[in-house]
Amino acid sequence: MITNSSDKLHCNLCGGVSDVKILFHSEEYPDGQMGNIFQCRRCGLIYRDPHPRIEALLRPQSQIKKRSDNPDKLSQGRISLFNNHIKSISHFRYYNRILDVGSGEGYFLNLCSLNGWGVWGVEIVPELVESSKKEYRINVFNGNLEAAKYPDNYFDVVVFLNVLEHLLNPYSALSEAYRILRPGGAILLRFPNAAFHIPSRWFFTKLFSLWKGVMRFNQSVIHLYAFNRSTVCRYLNVTGFRTPIFENTSVACSSAIAQGNGIKRMLIHIAEGVVKFIKVISLGRLLIGPSLSLIAVKPLR
Ligand SMILES: [Zn+2]
Repeated sequence: MITNSSDKLHCNLCGGVSDVKILFHSEEYPDGQMGNIFQCRRCGLIYRDPHPRIEALLRPQSQIKKRSDNPDKLSQGRISLFNNHIKSISHFRYYNRILDVGSGEGYFLNLCSLNGWGVWGVEIVPELVESSKKEYRINVFNGNLEAAKYPDNYFDVVVFLNVLEHLLNPYSALSEAYRILRPGGAILLRFPNAAFHIPSRWFFTKLFSLWKGVMRFNQSVIHLYAFNRSTVCRYLNVTGFRTPIFENTSVACSSAIAQGNGIKRMLIHIAEGVVKFIKVISLGRLLIGPSLSLIAVKPLR
């Protein structure tokens, strides 16, 4: 477990102590706190230290209000992304139970429910728990996954959509997901791809130092952790999951940039084309898209 003391860092993935290099020196984050970005020399895990205080992890009330007031709460891009995820997990349905960790406003679970799933959610922000209960009548636990204490072997699918990188202890959360999944059940993860974001951030930081006119790369994309295919595989391996299948997911289809002007959208389409091309010519080994998703299975025994 990584501590808040920079003089003694424990890697959350391999347990190594203080064997790290600094990728980016202290920068201010959108939550108003400073942090270095480290990489463990033993396993390659990238993380921010010190971690922000717990209050900073809870989304501000103003942001929630802004989202609730937004008439286009769930864009077509996100609906399409969520529906693709729902399709990809349909053959794991047995008890008909799905759990969304970090269920937010409840959009994904609502779509699951419309597809006939029995749905459960876990969410640490109380306002989001209330709004999802009120709007969609979804069963959401307020707290972290470990505190919910679901029974062993209970769910067919446990989902972390852009959530794992925000957790203080991803190892603990994945171990808990493994315990509550039935044998033969699956985990679905979606996360920002460090193989894309770290080089991009390095490039834009250099460019900014030469020309202040360029927009600085958004450092919020590296949250508490930045995972790539290799570090996620290692997490899955140590927590017991098997046969992960990775995919590039649609580029930024849920973000503000996708709603931007024609040039931005055109650049996104070009980037998507390049990402797909690289995947094809590398026979599926090189996934460099900004976001990756994967499905991995809890073995039958
Ligand atoms: Zn490590």
